[in-house]
Amino acid sequence: MKSTLLSKNNSYNLPVFLTDATFGVVKSLDSKDISDSKIKGIVVNTYHLLNAPGSKVIESLGGIKKFMNFDGLVVTDSGGWQIFSLIHRNKKAGKITEKGVVFSYGKLKGTLFTPEDCINTQFEIGSDIIICLDDFTPPNVDKKKTLDTVERTIRWAKRCRIQYEENLIKYGFDSKNKPLLFAVVQGGDLIEMRKHCIDKLLEIGFDGYGFGGYMIDDNGDLDLEVSEKLAKLIPDEFFKFALGVGDPFQVIKCLDYGWEIFDCTLPTRDARHKRLYNFTKEITSSSDLENKDFFKYVYLGKDKLIDSKEKISDFCDCYTCQNYSLAYLNHLFKINSVSAQRLASIHNLRFYSRLFELYTKLKIK
Ligand SMILES: [Zn+2]
Repeated sequence: MKSTLLSKNNSYNLPVFLTDATFGVVKSLDSKDISDSKIKGIVVNTYHLLNAPGSKVIESLGGIKKFMNFDGLVVTDSGGWQIFSLIHRNKKAGKITEKGVVFSYGKLKGTLFTPEDCINTQFEIGSDIIICLDDFTPPNVDKKKTLDTVERTIRWAKRCRIQYEENLIKYGFDSKNKPLLFAVVQGGDLIEMRKHCIDKLLEIGFDGYGFGGYMIDDNGDLDLEVSEKLAKLIPDEFFKFALGVGDPFQVIKCLDYGWEIFDCTLPTRDARHKRLYNFTKEITSSSDLENKDFFKYVYLGKDKLIDSKEKISDFCDCYTCQNYSLAYLNHLFKINSVSAQRLASIHNLRFYSRLFELYTKLKIK
């Protein structure tokens, strides 16, 4: 596993957990809350920022980091997942053609969004890691459909790479201050398709490779077998991005397999829905992270917690835990206060940043 990532003259420590700030904000938090929770990076969404306020607007205001006042690692998600999951589920949402995607709703209704547009938009937003537009493989589809999505992902990745190279010249980037370009590996749960996809993407050449698609097994859990095999198929000289993997135990497994960049909506979405993540003990050795019981969920908004004398967690140093009790946070949820969402989100983000600190300290030799 690599220990650092260089982009635009800045160095970032790996492994890293990025919180999803889809619209350029983590709901209920501001950028200082994110940094104070020791979260080192975010993922913003190309498609949503193109809709509002518009990527050209962000560019004119100095780029996403200045716009948000956030100086950590910023990744732009291509928007592929959102676009294709919508269209695969509802044909009326838009149309996928070889040229690109035509939207049939929203502000972009009737416009064609090509792989080249996707790259241009990400340059305008000004992220550190740019991700190619891909056609994700829906779950439980046959081999023919899987191959179609893989082949289109490869063809589009090639076009993205060409546009990226043109933009490096246009923007005057050199090898040190340029953003990185990642491709997404599709192929569902068919390992031979994943291998075909990664082999072809390696021929085109990218800085990193992402774990794409819905990788859910029959129990609704991440398919760890595919995750492990795919990590092995990607040579170690490239960055490995476990897109969307967020369950703490699955994160630890994927870190063990060699994935080093993670993003997920889980910690903040769960916080807003009254679910906290707590360590069950002081984690002092790598074996403490090997079983699912290193963490537990705490559910808030409960009558039984109204007069609780307990702390939120015995093993957390976040702003929320330092200043407030479990009973108070529970009360804020009972009365539907927006402060409850903020304080719970800060706690859950600190759980994730702490998890990555512990992994780095205890497991990486
Ligand atoms: Zn806390």
